Amino acid sequence: MIYLIGNWKMAPEKNLQAVDLVKKSAEIAKLYKKNITTIICPPAIFLSGVLKNNKIPLLIGAQGVAASDAPAQTGRISAGMLKDSGVQYVIIGHSEMRARGDSNADVKEQLTRLFEKKLLPIVCIGEKSRDAQGWYLSEVKEQLETIFTDLTPLQAKKVIIAYEPVWAIGAQAVRAATPLECREMTIFIRKFLSDKYGEKGTKSIPILYGGSADELNAKSFIEEGGAEGFLVGRVSLDPKRFNALAKSIS
Ligand code: PEP
Repeated sequence: MIYLIGNWKMAPEKNLQAVDLVKKSAEIAKLYKKNITTIICPPAIFLSGVLKNNKIPLLIGAQGVAASDAPAQTGRISAGMLKDSGVQYVIIGHSEMRARGDSNADVKEQLTRLFEKKLLPIVCIGEKSRDAQGWYLSEVKEQLETIFTDLTPLQAKKVIIAYEPVWAIGAQAVRAATPLECREMTIFIRKFLSDKYGEKGTKSIPILYGGSADELNAKSFIEEGGAEGFLVGRVSLDPKRFNALAKSIS
């Protein structure tokens, strides 16, 4: 099964647009349900409207969670609130959240809060830039080590990893990664996981690619890059392109 996860980020602006978008996304999810699990992650303010207007097989996630349950956190949302809203998945460790201050330790705490409430984590990792010496691999290794410290094999199996090179994400992206760059990293991540949990134990942990993925390059990330799906930003806001991407990988 391939994953297609849409991160709407801070869009659209209006509730009605979000409702329209979830209805169209649900139609797309239905078309490709045989081999694609589709999840969308709208802004928190639209979650209740989106959940009300959603149809299975489309699944709904949130875009972040507070690292602690202390109530004095203006502007944040707790794992308990997300659970109560009805979402199943939550994105954590996104580079845009890390850029606003989330450290590896914060991401680990957020992961713990999600497990406490039986929510499923989509954990983003990825290097800020690449260098010829390969130091970027240690940046990713540190992220992996923090995330998987103390996770039981059963918990580890619940994690979806999204490899998102920061330099490839969003409108300011330098470019998308190449399938070969993605392949190097999926092998690196897979090796980390199998060293820790054994090959058999981690086969089922999906490693997705994110960063300027689209309907033209997606297939090569699966075929040559070793990706088992995508976390997409911009394309998830355009149903025509989201559909074309899903079709290209189905
Ligand atoms: C993202 O926000 O995680 C992302 C991958 O964005 P985009 O697809 O727009 O590069």
